[in-house]
Amino acid sequence: MKPRHSLTALAVFAAFSTAMPGIGVAATDEQKSVAFAAIDRNASEIALVGDTLYFYAEPGMQEFESAKFLKESLTDMGFKVETGRAGMPTAVWATYGSGKPHVVIVTEIDALPEGSQTPGSMPRKPLVAGAPGHMEGHNTHGGVALGALQAVKAVMDKYKLPGKVSVSFGPAEEQLASRPFLVRSGQFADADAAILIHIGDRLSTGYGLQNYAAISATFSFKGKTAHGAVNPWDGKDAVDAVVLMDTGYNALREHMRPTQRAHRTITAGGIQPNIIPDYGQSWWFVRDANAPWAKENFDKLVNVAKGAALMTGTTMEMEVVASAWPQLGNKVLSEAISRNIDVVGMPKWSADEDKFAREFQRSLGLPTIGLATERVTGNRPQSFASNDNGDVTWVVPTGTLSFPSAVPGVGAHNWQAGVTPTLSLSHKGQVAGAKVLAGSILDILTEPKVLASARAEFDTELKKSPYFSLLPPEAQPKTDMNKEVMEKLRPEMSKFYLKKKANFK
Ligand SMILES: [Zn+2]
Repeated sequence: MKPRHSLTALAVFAAFSTAMPGIGVAATDEQKSVAFAAIDRNASEIALVGDTLYFYAEPGMQEFESAKFLKESLTDMGFKVETGRAGMPTAVWATYGSGKPHVVIVTEIDALPEGSQTPGSMPRKPLVAGAPGHMEGHNTHGGVALGALQAVKAVMDKYKLPGKVSVSFGPAEEQLASRPFLVRSGQFADADAAILIHIGDRLSTGYGLQNYAAISATFSFKGKTAHGAVNPWDGKDAVDAVVLMDTGYNALREHMRPTQRAHRTITAGGIQPNIIPDYGQSWWFVRDANAPWAKENFDKLVNVAKGAALMTGTTMEMEVVASAWPQLGNKVLSEAISRNIDVVGMPKWSADEDKFAREFQRSLGLPTIGLATERVTGNRPQSFASNDNGDVTWVVPTGTLSFPSAVPGVGAHNWQAGVTPTLSLSHKGQVAGAKVLAGSILDILTEPKVLASARAEFDTELKKSPYFSLLPPEAQPKTDMNKEVMEKLRPEMSKFYLKKKANFK
């Protein structure tokens, strides 16, 4: 694949360096040209990784094939791979190099329930009816991460750079269910910097609070059955408790900060009207603009639940399923990433790719603006969503990077977002993302000043808001989530597996 960035100066530098090998530690520009060349050379392998993960389409905690594939690929690349951290079999961690500094790529590769879709088909056409699918494009994260890692390793080898580069693939991002456990297990204790990567519709980075804190918990009420007409006075209605909990929290909303978000689904709501239900359950997400506020809201919700149990004579059991701090983007690292975005630039889309994007947008009633050609300039606004990788950003100075593998306007968590993650537009975006990521990692590895200022900024932020885990100490990862659906559908889904080996060179 042809390089798409305008790197004339770097190309000259690279040509010069091949003519004069063995001049010791080279300028970062030269190292970057070596890294970018490695990424261009491996463009087909980057695409293969992303596409392979797409067809595995494994939802949270069931990323077994994906983890196995990543482990094999990373081992072949010369990385030391560990799986199973914090009791989660699908957590993948791989490292290359030794000593300091230590830079970690943090990302995820899980799919979403019922997102199965035939790539390239604008009308709804699941590959397997009812199966999960990549309707957020997390499959592309694998391509970008491995492409960048291979390139960084090539530069580390060639220039004998000290330090380590690692990747952490955390399970079940969509359920916010793994990173607080990985942090608690000390996975990031040795890291000096991290970069979070995520699919987007253009190259962008941001600093400060990037999204929302969240706590996810189930509230189970236990009561007593009775005939709804004959002896209702003997019953204790657990679903009444669920309803009263809703009512209680809704009254509370008037007295909460306007930044709060809370939403729930009723996961057990009784059997039939003439049986007083002895079991009721709701599952809540409570969020706010920062973690201490989210915790404050959550504690109020727990009190409301206790009140609902008291009112109905039922008992209540609360279980925290997951939690997330908002991502804290480090400005110094963001600026380093930004400089690399400027060097790499947005991909050059083909006329066909842009035409497809416009037709797709038209079919969804969106503005037909085609594919993005400009990077996002300036800082990104704080979003209301959450990602459990936020916890990492409060224990390691962290930069954020989005790369252009999606069509502008097509919202994630819709099956439509599963149409494009394996198309050439996505592949090009992964290559651009891998270059920015590799360039940024090299800057952090080779410029002690970047790391020192990033650390100083991080220490100041942490003094203002010290990190604490939003998980209760007894909380454990829910490794059996999504198990049933995968047991049922994996045989059908496996017919679409690519069954190819990545061969980075
Ligand atoms: Zn995501």
